[in-house]
Amino acid sequence: MSKEIAIIGGGISGICTAYYLHKSGHKVSVFDANKIGLECSYGNAGLIVPSHFETLSNPGILKKGIKWMLNPNSPFFLKPRLDMDLIKWIIKFNTFCTKKHVNENKHFLRDINLYSLDLYKELKENDDFDFDFKTSGLLMMCKEEKTLKEEEFLVKEANELGLEAQILSKEDIKQLEPDATFDVIGASYFKDDSKIQPYDFIIAIKNYLEKKCVKFYEDCHIEDINISNSKIDSIVDDESNVYKADNFIFTTGILTMQIAKKFNLNLPMQGGKGFSFIVDKNDSLNFSTPMILAEEKVAVTPYDSYVRFGGTMMISGYDLSINERRVNNIKKAANSYINGLNIQTPQMKDIWAGLRPCSPDGLPFIGKSNELSNLIIASGHAMMGVSLGPATGKIVTDLINEKNTDIEINKMNLYRF
Ligand SMILES: Cc1cc2nc3c(=O)[nH]c(=O)nc-3n(C[C@H](O)[C@H](O)[C@H](O)COP(=O)(O)OP(=O)(O)OC[C@H]3O[C@@H](n4cnc5c(N)ncnc54)[C@H](O)[C@@H]3O)c2cc1C
Repeated sequence: MSKEIAIIGGGISGICTAYYLHKSGHKVSVFDANKIGLECSYGNAGLIVPSHFETLSNPGILKKGIKWMLNPNSPFFLKPRLDMDLIKWIIKFNTFCTKKHVNENKHFLRDINLYSLDLYKELKENDDFDFDFKTSGLLMMCKEEKTLKEEEFLVKEANELGLEAQILSKEDIKQLEPDATFDVIGASYFKDDSKIQPYDFIIAIKNYLEKKCVKFYEDCHIEDINISNSKIDSIVDDESNVYKADNFIFTTGILTMQIAKKFNLNLPMQGGKGFSFIVDKNDSLNFSTPMILAEEKVAVTPYDSYVRFGGTMMISGYDLSINERRVNNIKKAANSYINGLNIQTPQMKDIWAGLRPCSPDGLPFIGKSNELSNLIIASGHAMMGVSLGPATGKIVTDLINEKNTDIEINKMNLYRF
């Protein structure tokens, strides 16, 4: 049966949800406080990452995190502040930094990433809209023996999980990318990983959906929610316009935690602020495989005419200001890994900051409310929102259609905290 569905939040999670709901015959409206796709889904690295089968909360990050926090040039920073939500989040996060937690979730993260990757391939093959998608693999570029050893261990684990991965020597890297040189001793290479241009992808879906009469309400901040008889009756925007629907889906990124409180739901999240910028292609950027500069945690995504560099994880509230020092650290890291590259500040375009919605256990929140029968929430994707976009949209659509989801989703349930 066709339903009227309101999606609040037009990032990658919201737009993919709108697409699959529309395809299954529902009447969809998308509301966003900003323009569609301009928050965390805009300037990210665009990587689809079956290689990220380790949760963000893992023993390694706990050890490195403390060291990094004391170094202003490190890729990780936690701004100490007296905020109960932050304190509770840190305590929870620490309890999940165990090998046991990583092992319990690696199969699930592999499966949901591969599921989403298959959906990307399906989207690319059908004629609804076109977008830049490449199964390019991902290199984890290492300067230090110690890091390469850690990567060897990850590659072994990836192989045990059935993923294609291997360690590449300097010569192997040269064979893969003959037109560029890198100051590294080797890399791990994850063959299944892929890339898109996330904002172009979102706009391609939006343009397609607009032609199919899906309504987009931009610059429309949803401020209030009317509830009656254990259901959401309507939502209200900042100009007091009221919108009714049969079902309401909140894909509101980092702001979901505050919104969820209105539904008595505890969805702990902190914004993991990251930065990116682009540089036009030049002779030293003549490569096509995306890479992560392993010691510096900088993602490098090459597109046809430019390369995007992104990194840093600052747990510092909701503030989206650009931290020049951290952005410069990304620039320095890029210059030191890629031979011949000498990015100067004026060449850095589209400097951007986004807040990754990070849950303490490193898993998203996707599920139905137990109390409000027509509410679904999908958020908390942290570093994998792009990777899991189509999976999120398809799962939410199956929930609306009361169908079994293609993969087990209990690990992402809304009531685990
Ligand atoms: C530097 C960096 C690099 C990254 N690289 C990758 C990567 O390579 N691969 C990957 O998978 N992920 C990556 N990520 C993470 C990814 O960007 C996020 O996980 C993803 O964008 C989250 O998408 P979302 O749709 O949940 O949230 P968002 O894109 O933030 O969308 C939420 C939307 O909700 C709207 N909204 C919120 N509240 C309201 C309201 N009350 N009323 C109306 N609208 C509202 C907002 O305006 C926003 O547009 C990266 C992130 C960063 C910062």
